[in-house]
Amino acid sequence: MDKYTQIGTKSVWAGEKDYLVHGATQVPVVFSVAYGYDDIDEWYDVAVGKKKGHIYGRNTNPTVQAFEDKIKILEGAEDSTSFSTGMAAISNSLATFLRPGDRIVSIKDTYGGTNKIFSEFLPQLNINVTLCETGDHVSIEKEVGKGCKILYLETPTNPTVKITDIKRMVDAAKKVGALVFVDNTFATPINQTPLSFGADLVIHSATKFLGGHADALGGVACGRTELIEQIYHYREINGATLDPMAAYLLLRGAKTLHLRVRTQCANAMRVAEFLQTVDAVDEVFYPGLETHKHHDIAKQQMKQFGGMLSFSLKGGMDAVRSFLPKLQLANRAANLGAVETTVGPARTTSHVECNPEERQALGIPEGLIRYSAGIEEIDDLLDDLKQAFEVLD
Ligand SMILES: *Cc1c(COP(=O)(O)O)cnc(C)c1O
Repeated sequence: MDKYTQIGTKSVWAGEKDYLVHGATQVPVVFSVAYGYDDIDEWYDVAVGKKKGHIYGRNTNPTVQAFEDKIKILEGAEDSTSFSTGMAAISNSLATFLRPGDRIVSIKDTYGGTNKIFSEFLPQLNINVTLCETGDHVSIEKEVGKGCKILYLETPTNPTVKITDIKRMVDAAKKVGALVFVDNTFATPINQTPLSFGADLVIHSATKFLGGHADALGGVACGRTELIEQIYHYREINGATLDPMAAYLLLRGAKTLHLRVRTQCANAMRVAEFLQTVDAVDEVFYPGLETHKHHDIAKQQMKQFGGMLSFSLKGGMDAVRSFLPKLQLANRAANLGAVETTVGPARTTSHVECNPEERQALGIPEGLIRYSAGIEEIDDLLDDLKQAFEVLD
């Protein structure tokens, strides 16, 4: 049993010890696709799971397992398994449990790719999907009360950072025996641990904050062993395996998760407060602001309010077109959660899969800018925003 208790210390140390070899202080990247056995009986025992070990890279890999173990410990989970991308984590986890005729309840504001699974792929499999207004707890409770296999949540949401009360939704789901999945990508375990509120499964796009350096794709799901074993089995057969090199990069990134996320949260808060004072800005969305509709819920279930915010410009898409290129300390790109500040219009990033009518139905203004605060010094970020707003004067 490890003696440290603080999450920042866990970010640095957790999950790695079992995978160190030759006295190395860092986990090796094991590229080998297969593992050899001279003893045929031992090979058999490992293959059927009677003995610990590795057989083939699509199933398990030591570097990948070190990453899985670290995230499992950060989320306070019994078990975890990983995937090639965040979307693979989501689709594989859903496919493990959903059968034709089943019903799933979720919210309208999930990540664009997740929303496509709900609107396009699940209905093809004769799975009934009900999407509730995000943040409308009464309507979610009502739909869950009618019975469902899974309640799927994401909080805060992408890109308008809406908040759902996890504990309250878990209580509703338990009454009908539904599983609760939570996409915790935006919050990270530094700010929010859904399992501690009774959720059954936590899902991450590790591509974002967990890795933090925008140089590796990955996904992870954490929960009870009984659930994770089934998800792992689906993934090992269907093949959305995390690559060992990506696992190494994500593992290395995760060591500084607490430092990065704390700085990103502090920067996001200052940027949000600043944006509220700017004339050209129509609305600012950030759960840390008292003006946020569910600031109270965010305060209850989150330690800090996250590194993501969004804001709309009064001038709509035309203003976005002239404003965004002026920012010097920001990548205009589709990712988020990186050490560099990253910006983009919702219509070209999170919700590029949706048409204008769909985006409007989701309550995403065409002039909405998603702002992922990096770890730069805040004074430079604010100065950069100030000089960029001059173009709209
Ligand atoms: C990016 C993202 C995903 C998808 O992750 P990929 O690694 O790009 O497949 C899922 N959920 C949220 C909230 C995301 O931001």
